[in-house]
Amino acid sequence: MLEITGLSHRYDDGHQAVDGVELFVDRGELVSIVGPSGCGKSTLLRCVAGLQRPSAGRIAVDGRAVDGVPDGLAVVFQDYTRSLFPWLTVRDNVALPLRRRGLARAERHERARAALAQVGLADTEGKHPWQLSGGMQQRVALARALAYRPALLLMDEPFGSVDAQTREDLEDLLLAVRGGGDPGGPPRAPGDGMTILLVTHDIDESVYVGDRVVVLTGAPGRVHSDLRVELPAPRDQIATRGLPEFVKLRAEVGRAVRRP
Ligand code: ADP
Repeated sequence: MLEITGLSHRYDDGHQAVDGVELFVDRGELVSIVGPSGCGKSTLLRCVAGLQRPSAGRIAVDGRAVDGVPDGLAVVFQDYTRSLFPWLTVRDNVALPLRRRGLARAERHERARAALAQVGLADTEGKHPWQLSGGMQQRVALARALAYRPALLLMDEPFGSVDAQTREDLEDLLLAVRGGGDPGGPPRAPGDGMTILLVTHDIDESVYVGDRVVVLTGAPGRVHSDLRVELPAPRDQIATRGLPEFVKLRAEVGRAVRRP
């Protein structure tokens, strides 16, 4: 679904952020991207989002070269305080990008309602973002992405600004909604949902939510290792994190990040 070949980017000041990244992602996969700070994770994501034109290499989504923001792409950033409009209601924040899809008003509102219900915020439609907690605001940002029904969802440190307990809740919410299912509902087969790239600096999180963990080397970033996560579904914050396979993978990713 996503093909990245020979991707390099050098900023105007001469700084080489990524160098020769190769990454292939199947439809429906959730790939975590980790690496030392400043190794080019955000640069990579911005290139995939069509927000940054790479100096070299090729990115294709569904076989089509990325040249500008691809159709069917949604992005969730870390900083929800800057990604939600404070003067719009929660429903209008979620419905806003659907205009770009050319949807009629009734359909926009229906999709916003459904997405907010999916993230457990059905009763906040008429509120403004500043009336909600940080974790709830990030759920609004996730609902906005889901309402768009993206084929490809990019997340850049999406849970980096909330407390540890809320972070775990949001990780579980992401796993629940990725196949279109309801939180708490039955797990879906991998492959029938969105394709997701998740940048995180949290090694445990990368393993807990990922089907694969891709570790980038220190600057300039290139792929150091690409590890498949074979942990049983549904994942559980206590049980999964106690499994020997989880502990082993976490150590492997940790070693790769620290000694690139
Ligand atoms: P990460 O997300 O892994 O922390 P980034 O992609 O944000 O890394 O940044 C990679 C490197 O590129 C860093 O050294 C950063 O300072 C540099 N960088 C990021 N954006 C710019 C920019 N617009 N101009 C110049 N250098 C940049």
